[in-house]
Amino acid sequence: MTERAYNFSAGPAVLPEPVLAQVQQDLMALPGPRASIMEISHRSAAFKEIIAAAEANIRKLLSISDNYEVLFLQGGSRLQFSMIPMNLLSSEQPSADYLVTGAWGKHALKEANKHGDMRVLWDGGDSNYNCLPASEEIEVSSNAAYLHYTSNETIHGVQFSEEPNSGDVPLVCDASSEFLYRPLPIDRYGLIYACAQKNIGPAGVTVVVVRKDLLERCQDSLPGYLNYKNHAAAGSLMNTAPTFAIYVVRLVTDWLLNDIGGLDKMYELNQAKAKLLYDAIDSSDGFYVGHTQADCRSLMNVVFRLASDELTSAFVAQAAERNLTALAGYRTLGGIRASIYNAMPLAGIESLRDFMVEFQNANG
Ligand SMILES: *Cc1c(COP(=O)(O)O)cnc(C)c1O
Repeated sequence: MTERAYNFSAGPAVLPEPVLAQVQQDLMALPGPRASIMEISHRSAAFKEIIAAAEANIRKLLSISDNYEVLFLQGGSRLQFSMIPMNLLSSEQPSADYLVTGAWGKHALKEANKHGDMRVLWDGGDSNYNCLPASEEIEVSSNAAYLHYTSNETIHGVQFSEEPNSGDVPLVCDASSEFLYRPLPIDRYGLIYACAQKNIGPAGVTVVVVRKDLLERCQDSLPGYLNYKNHAAAGSLMNTAPTFAIYVVRLVTDWLLNDIGGLDKMYELNQAKAKLLYDAIDSSDGFYVGHTQADCRSLMNVVFRLASDELTSAFVAQAAERNLTALAGYRTLGGIRASIYNAMPLAGIESLRDFMVEFQNANG
């Protein structure tokens, strides 16, 4: 078998090794149905057990009450950029507030503007999205249908460490590249969504946690698939669910509960892992320059630059020789991006840190 690299891809991204081993073991035939997860009906008892376990695990990890639905949808987070305004705006509340803290927030805003005139409360474009608004800069309009924000900007590497204050206005969060990296005060949210392929599974499924009272806003005139109410009523089995992806989400959440020991533990580990890399950047005397201001650095996506494109290319190439892959930054931002999601082991980060020191010694 090919040796596994330490894979710093931003998404689809690293999965826990015990999860991959379990998938491999059961791929030909699951114990109950004696067929592959890819070969059984989404309405079979075996699959219903799997989707129920995935939901129960997410509820347990985040202490989600019965006031919320947990949905498994398709179309990625991109479709949520549209479904959210389509379902949550109304003739009485035709606009929502948006915080634009990076590329993903900007995409979300652009789609929402097709359904009304959204109000931009804050946009970090002038500083190339290297910081976040201070709490006093966030003044939500009283008639906003919701406040949308991106809790972790995957490309720019800025991350909120606590929820912005939206008062009585429902808080809507794109948590795609951090979901389940720490515990959340779920009661603060109206809706949270996350495509699986960054931090919780393979591509193909998007988790949406939505407060039940918000479903009353969903109009029957919407296309059936795009209406949250239909998915809630059908237990996410309105159409053929992405069975394989949901099965892996179940295994990843089993791993978080049983191997890691829950999200408090996961958060501690994530803080320790990110610190190793930020310390390496801060102690490099400017050889490595972080993109993000220190108070809003992402624990998931560590973004930094070297002095030239030549050095950056050499860094990426030599890292790959050392089994450290997918470190090139996003195409429009350049530099280096190390995505260090839940499943990236500490050993992978130590190995990257050691390489950073060595590379600096050889080229600094
Ligand atoms: C990756 C990502 C998306 C887009 O997800 P898709 O599943 O490709 O639609 C949206 N928001 C954030 C924060 C992301 O990291």
